[in-house]
Amino acid sequence: MKYTEEFRDARRVKELAADLCQITKNPWVIMEICGGQTHSFMHYGIDQLLPPQVELVHGPGCPVCVTPLEMIDKAIALASDPNFILASFGDMLRVPGSKGDLFSVRAAGGAVKVVYSPLDAVQLARQNPDKQVVFFAIGFETTTPPNALSIIQAEALGLKNFSLLVSQVRVPQAMEAILSSPANRVQGFLAAGHVCAIMGYWEYPPIAAKYHVPIAVTGFEPVDLLLGLIDVVKMLEAGETGVVNSYSRAVTEAGNQPAQAAIQRVFQPADRTWRGIGTIPMSGFSLRPEYAQYDAEKRFDIGHIQTREAEVCIAGKILQGVMKPPQCPAFGKECTPENPLGAPMVSNEGACSAYYRYRKGS
Ligand code: SF4
Repeated sequence: MKYTEEFRDARRVKELAADLCQITKNPWVIMEICGGQTHSFMHYGIDQLLPPQVELVHGPGCPVCVTPLEMIDKAIALASDPNFILASFGDMLRVPGSKGDLFSVRAAGGAVKVVYSPLDAVQLARQNPDKQVVFFAIGFETTTPPNALSIIQAEALGLKNFSLLVSQVRVPQAMEAILSSPANRVQGFLAAGHVCAIMGYWEYPPIAAKYHVPIAVTGFEPVDLLLGLIDVVKMLEAGETGVVNSYSRAVTEAGNQPAQAAIQRVFQPADRTWRGIGTIPMSGFSLRPEYAQYDAEKRFDIGHIQTREAEVCIAGKILQGVMKPPQCPAFGKECTPENPLGAPMVSNEGACSAYYRYRKGS
């Protein structure tokens, strides 16, 4: 496949891995932000080609993993009401809430529809004028523009029966929360290339300067991952900080400006709770006050729902790079992809799922 196979070329990968081994003189802890990158590292075995001094820890960039339990329970409450249709991306259906998941609600007759785009949910609202259609708007800056467009379209169509259950999060504020934690071990970051394709990377230099860390904007193929690591390790070994774009075929510093304009029109920065981590100031988006009529939490009686996490699950520590999945006592025992106790075991981007799939028994 053009523009993909060349970034999976085994000979090039081996050469880059050898380059990385040669330039690495000291031990470094580097976090890949995105769960997609975690899975690529393990799927292609890149983590096993790294010099022993480079330790990878896995960041919070898995949208399913960081969506709070409380929001899952709110989605379940809406889906259980016969007056509602709850539309969602498919990977949210298996995420355990306090009592069951959206799959069990659907099995019991609840209207839970899997969609591939929030615009499909707008279409559902047009087709079902007697129902309230709520789209479960989770994810990072990558999913925020289409969610914004769904509101713009619903407004243009004059729809009164469409709204969003918003749990949108932002990467830079999560990086700052990790770096400012007393337990932080991260010395350099691979920033998520797809988020930067939307937002650019202009938000990162102040973080690099404030916390004295190197950040490489990094893609998802094996060659991309090694190029990002080489750039970060070079800066670490030289005692430098700053931001490097190691994914220039997809990312510019300014990013996708029409997409950013759509976000700004509909959403505003807001405090957000991250599952297992807690509330991070201004780490998410909420709908602007002028779009409050599309905000499911404001429109419907779900504000009182409160939850408690399963005590055994250490997902919060894993998502901050403090621990790794095999250190969880439930990993591969009580918690498996068939019977997940926490979101990182459910999602295709979750670190626990990646370790279970590619490294269990190793
Ligand atoms: S293995 Fe399961 S219980 Fe343990 S941290 Fe991962 S998701 Fe949570």
